[in-house]
Amino acid sequence: VKALGIDLGGTGIKVAVVESGDPPTVGVRATDETDAAEGPDAVLDRMAELACRAIGESGPVDRVGLGAPGPLDVERGRSLFMPNLRGWTDVPIVAELETRLGLPVALINDVRAHTLAEHELGAGRGFRNLVCFAVGTGVGGGVVVDGRLLLGMNGTIGELGHQTLVPDGPPCPCGNRGCLEQFASGPSIARAAGMPSGHEAIGAARAGNPVALAALQRAGRMLGIGIANVALAVGPERVIIGGGVASAGDLLLDPARSELARRNRVMPIDRIEIVAAELGALAGAIGAALMGLSAPS
Ligand SMILES: [Zn+2]
Repeated sequence: VKALGIDLGGTGIKVAVVESGDPPTVGVRATDETDAAEGPDAVLDRMAELACRAIGESGPVDRVGLGAPGPLDVERGRSLFMPNLRGWTDVPIVAELETRLGLPVALINDVRAHTLAEHELGAGRGFRNLVCFAVGTGVGGGVVVDGRLLLGMNGTIGELGHQTLVPDGPPCPCGNRGCLEQFASGPSIARAAGMPSGHEAIGAARAGNPVALAALQRAGRMLGIGIANVALAVGPERVIIGGGVASAGDLLLDPARSELARRNRVMPIDRIEIVAAELGALAGAIGAALMGLSAPS
């Protein structure tokens, strides 16, 4: 069985074809710009074009998986709104793509897709219990327990960036205050470091800039508290950190590791490893394809 995965992001669209097997194999992949300013119709057309081009190269596929930034209504196949894509409020993305492609489409949150990919083909290979955090513009997540990605009520399990860490902390676009995302995301690190972007703050921290180092340290610490909380509910053997901010490596992960040890006293935390994701930018598309493979036909 072959499936095509599509990852819709704020700046890029990525696709990958995956064939079932043990392990599944990744074939043709391709990318294009999102050009989100053109609106949903134009973006959906471009997604379909890119998908058709990949299918033309790989040969026919049986199903399509679509990974999109949340929140989604996966039961009804709609995007509710997309913080980084204007005009996507209550769009029936599954029906729109099915019409354009003539294939069944399964919808999944983009970070849940990323989690599936790391579980089957990346840093989570061989582990039955894991948690994934994608730390970038926002903070998303995914949870695998006993070898299965947990989806829960309407696919909502994994919104780990919106756990409250500081009751009256900074406001979050989700409507709450003091969410983990407000302390660990790229923009929040940039703010704490007084720099234009998280990317620049990470570069400055690597060069030894003490303000940037402190900003990353704080982000890692808050991430560690978030991990300690989630570990209590999930019992992971591995915690996988992906997304752009993960490029900070141990500058982010070491404070997270110490904080996990400090906060979580009731689990054998020496058996919980915090590691970087392995699959890079195509993880979302690969995971969406894996979702397509496992969807009932
Ligand atoms: Zn929030």
